[in-house]
Amino acid sequence: MDTTPATLTADQRTVLGAWRRRYLRMVCALFGHQVSNRVFNSTRGPSKRCRCGVEYLAENDSETRISHTVSCFLNGHRYTRVGMRHRHHEYVCLECGHPLLFKADDGFHGQRQTFSKRVRYLCNLLGHQVHQVRERNGLTEYACHCGHSFLKPAQNSSRIKHPVRCLFAGHYVRFVERREGYAEFLCRHCGHTFCFVARNSCHGQSFLYGSGDGGGDSCRELVPHSIAPQPDKPRHLLSPTTTKPAQ
Ligand SMILES: [Zn+2]
Ligand SMILES: [Zn+2]
Ligand SMILES: [Zn+2]
Ligand SMILES: [Zn+2]
Repeated sequence: MDTTPATLTADQRTVLGAWRRRYLRMVCALFGHQVSNRVFNSTRGPSKRCRCGVEYLAENDSETRISHTVSCFLNGHRYTRVGMRHRHHEYVCLECGHPLLFKADDGFHGQRQTFSKRVRYLCNLLGHQVHQVRERNGLTEYACHCGHSFLKPAQNSSRIKHPVRCLFAGHYVRFVERREGYAEFLCRHCGHTFCFVARNSCHGQSFLYGSGDGGGDSCRELVPHSIAPQPDKPRHLLSPTTTKPAQ
């Protein structure tokens, strides 16, 4: 949104715009890039751009450092149900992309289409008591009774704690897969995932999807790929195991 006063000359507006971008770049360098599903939902085109001007959250092997969304932390997340898988309803925050997984037979959250929910501070403090949802992408997906999910290497313990570094440094996320119109990203430090609105369809976005007939539903046919680190290959050299040339 342009908040520059209308009475300024063109030169003044240019200078102000340059200073604003410089300031926002500095903020993003300190705390990580800002994310918003509301913004992504109103943006056209396949690529995402932070308010500082940087193109980010590419659906490839690159990494993006994202900041925490303060409004969600203070006021709670606003969730909408996006799908169901492995007997769990999946929800995504309309603002920050935080996902939740609730068992479909959960009396309250499992039946709702939308709801607001605050961060469960006790889980953040003591750790999440998780159960296994499924194995996918070479990792294991876990969910706590509070709905918080993780995608991590198989754990020996049923308690997962948030590492302190993500609290201060933000999350370092990388693309995992698309489903239900969202692109999922995973933090390499905490195993936290985020789901961001993917505006473009599967057309031209081929490396995770079967070609299908080009219709909307074919976009949901995922071709699983592993993102788990392999012992003989450095993490940054990993690429999706299943690729398909653009049609
Ligand atoms: Zn930024
Ligand atoms: Zn949120
Ligand atoms: Zn929890
Ligand atoms: Zn993290």
